[in-house]
Amino acid sequence: MAERYDVVMIGAGIGGASLAANLGTGVSVAILEAEAFPGYHTSGRSAAFYSESYGGPVVQPLTTASLPYFISAEKETGEAWLGTERGALYVGQAHQREALHQMRALYPALEMEVIGPEQVAERAPMLRPEWRAGGLWEPRVRDINTATMHQAFLRTAKRNGGVLKTGWRVTSLRREQDGWTISSGSEEIHARVIVNAAGAWADELAQLAGIAPIGLVPMRRTLVVLRVPQAEYRADAPLVLDVDGSFYFKPDAGTYWVSPHDETPSVPCDVQPEELDVAIALDRLEQATTLTISRPERSWAGLRTFAPDRAPIYGFEPTAPGFFWCAGQGGFGMQTAPAAGVLCASLIHGEPLPGALLEAGVDAEAYSPARFRATAGK
Ligand SMILES: Cc1cc2nc3c(=O)[nH]c(=O)nc-3n(C[C@H](O)[C@H](O)[C@H](O)COP(=O)(O)OP(=O)(O)OC[C@H]3O[C@@H](n4cnc5c(N)ncnc54)[C@H](O)[C@@H]3O)c2cc1C
Repeated sequence: MAERYDVVMIGAGIGGASLAANLGTGVSVAILEAEAFPGYHTSGRSAAFYSESYGGPVVQPLTTASLPYFISAEKETGEAWLGTERGALYVGQAHQREALHQMRALYPALEMEVIGPEQVAERAPMLRPEWRAGGLWEPRVRDINTATMHQAFLRTAKRNGGVLKTGWRVTSLRREQDGWTISSGSEEIHARVIVNAAGAWADELAQLAGIAPIGLVPMRRTLVVLRVPQAEYRADAPLVLDVDGSFYFKPDAGTYWVSPHDETPSVPCDVQPEELDVAIALDRLEQATTLTISRPERSWAGLRTFAPDRAPIYGFEPTAPGFFWCAGQGGFGMQTAPAAGVLCASLIHGEPLPGALLEAGVDAEAYSPARFRATAGK
């Protein structure tokens, strides 16, 4: 006899974990993960920063709404989910000054300030003079202790009675009258609601269920860890980003994490860094800073999966009852996870969104899969 659950998450990355943690005790929950441990794929490979301006204006309310949840979770668990505010500094050369103002204009409600060359130099003295033409300062940016947050969500789900099954790759999905039969080889589980939290595999999973794909594109993003001479290291340096998105870097334990801001479409896979992207990262860092460039300590890549409009997809599939999307978190799935978990749990329970989300401007419609279904959900 197949095990039966009210809600089954497929994927134990941050998407599945944050939603499972927020479903509460009134429902039976299972989380199915293909790999031997949760966080093997994208959720274990992020750059781990929280920035309200990162991801675009449609994503920003979810990021803003997450901050109070981060802070209250820290109080409840006694764990540090966030680092101290290091701030982010968008920089540009002389021809990019206008871009700094345009970016500022995108986020009228955020605490941000366009600053001049001297203030840029003060905050990021490693930048070469030509990269200090101007800056956009976003003070509330911090690091996220992503593994701590991820583990805490899984712990909460288990404490509420949830079950985590690793090494459980879903290979078929069959719609029944009262929900779904989920199979992995000969094993079967029954769920009233299934949650597609399969990250880069989310469109493939939809197709297993006989549902049209949304057009999600997994994109490779590379991170390179560079150890610099001690005199060049600044633990308090901000996250520094090219305003036109050709690189970013931030300090971490005596190293700088550098990304060439690559977005190379990929099939869903255990993606690895390409030598060329590592070389581009170091070259861009050398062009922009006076840091000593040496052989990188390590590098990795992960897949950031985007919907065609680059907003996440949270909500019930209009064409298939009991199929819920929690996908397309692109490059912002960590910073938005606390609020996204609350939003998705409210939608599954059919409850109104909590005031804290509404006050931050979260509009569930903006993330609904119905936006991709021309005739459904209208
Ligand atoms: C280099 C890089 C830097 C980033 N930096 C940041 C950042 O600074 N801040 C931020 O907020 N975000 C950042 N992100 C984005 C963030 O990491 C992602 O948005 C987030 O991890 C996506 O989580 P997920 O749960 O959707 O995907 P995943 O973590 O990939 O989880 C999906 C899971 O589903 C499982 N799965 C797939 N198919 C099946 C199946 N058939 N059966 C069972 N299980 C299955 C997979 O094994 C996987 O574990 C970054 C990403 C990358 C790659």
